[in-house]
Amino acid sequence: SQQIELVSRPEGLPTQDNFQSNTVEIAPIADGEILVRNQWMSVDPYMRGRMQDSDSYVPPFQLGKALDGGCVGEVVESNNDRFAVGDSVLGNLGWREYWKSDGTGVQKLNPELAPLQSYLGALGMTGMTAWVGLKRIAELKPNSTVFVSAASGAVGSMVCQIAKANDCRVIGSAGKQEKIDWLRDKAGVDAVINYHTTDNLTEELGKLASDGIDVYFDNVGSEHLEAALEHMNDFGCIVCCGMIATYNATDPAAAPHNLFKVITKRLRMQGFIVSDHLEDRKAFVSDMSKLIRDNKITWEETITEGLENAPAAFLGLFDGDNLGKSLVKIS
Ligand code: NDP
Repeated sequence: SQQIELVSRPEGLPTQDNFQSNTVEIAPIADGEILVRNQWMSVDPYMRGRMQDSDSYVPPFQLGKALDGGCVGEVVESNNDRFAVGDSVLGNLGWREYWKSDGTGVQKLNPELAPLQSYLGALGMTGMTAWVGLKRIAELKPNSTVFVSAASGAVGSMVCQIAKANDCRVIGSAGKQEKIDWLRDKAGVDAVINYHTTDNLTEELGKLASDGIDVYFDNVGSEHLEAALEHMNDFGCIVCCGMIATYNATDPAAAPHNLFKVITKRLRMQGFIVSDHLEDRKAFVSDMSKLIRDNKITWEETITEGLENAPAAFLGLFDGDNLGKSLVKIS
């Protein structure tokens, strides 16, 4: 079975040299185990943090071992009553062709409900991140002005549309013209900023949010957070989801210089980890399925073909190569 291993820890922006493809034998499955052939895997910005050897909410990847992460595959052998050959399952052993499991944490999927790979996107961890951030952290109210950074990405594109479906005004920021067009034309976002072509992000945001921002869904940090702080309404909420602009930083970040505005504006700025909210999965799936049925949600996938190209797909996250969810199609 082919697998992609981490062979060195990146400093700054990771490169292809940090990864290596290797072929390993898989021993026959034992009693109670299943063998799964992966069809899809997810690449996610949080994986950058796990390439560092430091304490965090998830353990670091081990050098010389296959990476892991969200994946969808088909059961090809089963010694476990819960799973039959041919079942589609969601697991956490991406970055490889085959994996064995005793079924712990493996979820059976209904392929009739939605395309299988959407369990790694809109109906999966990234969709749920958007939903938890808006519903549980921001306690979103109708008629709010919501600003979203990395707005056309996997999480951001869901945030924009869930907020629109809850009758909010949405301002989205992204770094490419095709993403800006998608946000406006497909996601129904009210106002857009291309932060690569804007001279002054703070000023531009001020023009678009003339009544201020009630909720900032932060996927990026740095200058985006600084700009949002400037225009937050009093008692607004900043949902601290991610800070991708800092993930490859080798020097301490300069921005935001105005973090003190959290105090003067009495803002609630709360971090969250989506996996703390698993008891909300049912509510999320039922809410999201309804939004999808009512045509209130659409999504894009940027698909990279072949397990050997998984490192390139991951690196592309930091170059903005993906519109919507970045996925690797393994077979
Ligand atoms: P995306 O699909 O949004 O992919 C990353 C995107 O970020 C890129 O396409 C790029 O889009 C943008 N980006 C990359 N570098 C920069 C930069 N320096 N400045 C501004 N934008 C940048 O990824 P996800 O939707 O999976 O993740 C989005 C965020 O949510 C991440 O910060 C991630 O860590 C976080 N997250 C947090 C979770 C939680 O539980 N708290 C769970 C899941 C994700 P563009 O072209 O617009 O620049």
